[in-house]
Amino acid sequence: MSNCLNVTNAVEYAFCPRFTYFQLVLGIDQREGKRGTVQTGRAFHSRHATTNKNYKIKHLDGTKQTELLLYSKKHSFSGKIDEAIETEKEILLIERKYSDYILIGTTLKTQLGLLAILAEENTGKQVKKAIVIFDKTERTEIPINITEKIKQNALKILQKTNNIITTGNMPYSKHDDRCINCCYRKICPTT
Ligand code: SF4
Repeated sequence: MSNCLNVTNAVEYAFCPRFTYFQLVLGIDQREGKRGTVQTGRAFHSRHATTNKNYKIKHLDGTKQTELLLYSKKHSFSGKIDEAIETEKEILLIERKYSDYILIGTTLKTQLGLLAILAEENTGKQVKKAIVIFDKTERTEIPINITEKIKQNALKILQKTNNIITTGNMPYSKHDDRCINCCYRKICPTT
């Protein structure tokens, strides 16, 4: 893979391939930092990652790791693990979502699959499981098994993201509910 992509690039492709085209081929900034929900979500991650280093989920044993910036030599991509629990043989990923809307979809699986690959390559330990914590007005923990299929599908998404950049062609994407809050909706053709 010629371009060094990051996990976020692949997650955005999983959300919408055309998003990748506008951002990484045309270079149009998504200006997401101005959106309130994104800022609140970042503050939420940051609170747990930096000011709360000793806080752990009660039923989990191991050492808490935060803000691990990792690179995969094997697959040429980078990413940041916000939070994980490390035991002697395993890494357990913790992903926090500032939302009450519980959805384990392709974007989340892409994120977890690639983070698992980064963790395994850099630590030599297996990632078998992740816990996703949805926490806005209510807190819900969802355990997810990180299977080989999740990791392979995540790598395919990463490859497809790279293909958009390599070819420079605008991919097809139907307009639907995703477009309502998309920063590219005003310039995105409906055909
Ligand atoms: S407006 Fe819709 S189709 Fe266009 S980039 Fe955004 S999400 Fe994708």
